[in-house]
Amino acid sequence: MCGQDEPKLLLEVQDLTVSFPTSDGLVQAVRGVSFAVERGKTLGIVGESGSGKSVATQTVVGLTRGARISGRALFEGRDLLTASRAELQKVRGKKIGMVFQDPLSSLHPYYRVGWQIMEAVRAHDRVPKAQAHRRAVDLLSLVGIPHAAERVDDYPHQFSGGMRQRAMIAMALALDPSLLIADEPTTALDVTVQAQVLELTKHLQDMLGMAIIMITHDLGIIADTADQVMIMYAGKVMETAGRRDVYYRPHHPYTSGLLNSLPQSGHEGERLVPVRGQPPSLIDPPPGCAFWPRCTFAMPKCRTDPPPLRPLPGSDDHASACWLPLELTGRTGDVVEARQRASAAGGGLALSLNVAGGAGSSAGLGGEAAQ
Ligand code: SF4
Repeated sequence: MCGQDEPKLLLEVQDLTVSFPTSDGLVQAVRGVSFAVERGKTLGIVGESGSGKSVATQTVVGLTRGARISGRALFEGRDLLTASRAELQKVRGKKIGMVFQDPLSSLHPYYRVGWQIMEAVRAHDRVPKAQAHRRAVDLLSLVGIPHAAERVDDYPHQFSGGMRQRAMIAMALALDPSLLIADEPTTALDVTVQAQVLELTKHLQDMLGMAIIMITHDLGIIADTADQVMIMYAGKVMETAGRRDVYYRPHHPYTSGLLNSLPQSGHEGERLVPVRGQPPSLIDPPPGCAFWPRCTFAMPKCRTDPPPLRPLPGSDDHASACWLPLELTGRTGDVVEARQRASAAGGGLALSLNVAGGAGSSAGLGGEAAQ
């Protein structure tokens, strides 16, 4: 639990850039990203594959060897980007736990589940084996594995997909971390098990008081859990806001596009509206706003001038990197039309294309206007 004297801010990442030299050129995976996580709170990081969300968090814990990195990542006041390997090893697992997306490949098939949890415990605390074994049973029981004392010596293949993911969460919690990074923790699971794992994560957070960074490509996953949401695209932050603002007052057309691509209650049987086009190459990202090739509100200025992350009026935690007027938030047809007019006034083609949704669909005003 968060102590009275502990500072609220647990992790503060400032102007992080990460690039990887390859034979085709420099892959600019993360380009000047800043974010913060408070103790006991959840930050959701959302974006399509290749948006830089996983690279940003893996860099914080020193898992992107060979990358060119700049910026700062202050964890409990210490910059992890300049920490030695030995210092990082003390932080990983003990203070920052990680859950990866594929529980089958993350668990070693050759070793028993309990043994792998014991290893996580004994890597940091030199406790006797019997004590580590008891801890493994307790942890499996904590994450809801039935008959944990009997299942602790099972092999990973004897666990179902949901149980394996629970075991991964147990391993990440082995040393009572103050921050849990969950990278697409439910992608490989069916929707029922997905909901169970998310509920479990929330329950454990309430019980243990840890902060969580939940990384996902699906805005629906964090609809009930995130306190703050950061939308990433092409290695940059497009929009950041509290959960309610992201869902009800989005400003950035990319955020609107992600929302429009979710199934909506009351619209069963209708076609989903995907964000048209593909994310750009990070070796040669577009100049200006990285999203302009996919954005039907794009104006000539968007192609040349990168929009800064600007705070929305009257809000201290909502900011958007888009040249559209900042007051144009929301998902109604009125907002879509106002964006079209603003785009046209800036020399864009939105009105002549008769665009919809907000991210670039030309399938009528279905997306946002239908909300
Ligand atoms: Fe980017 Fe311009 Fe579209 Fe805003 S309107 S998302 S700045 S292309």
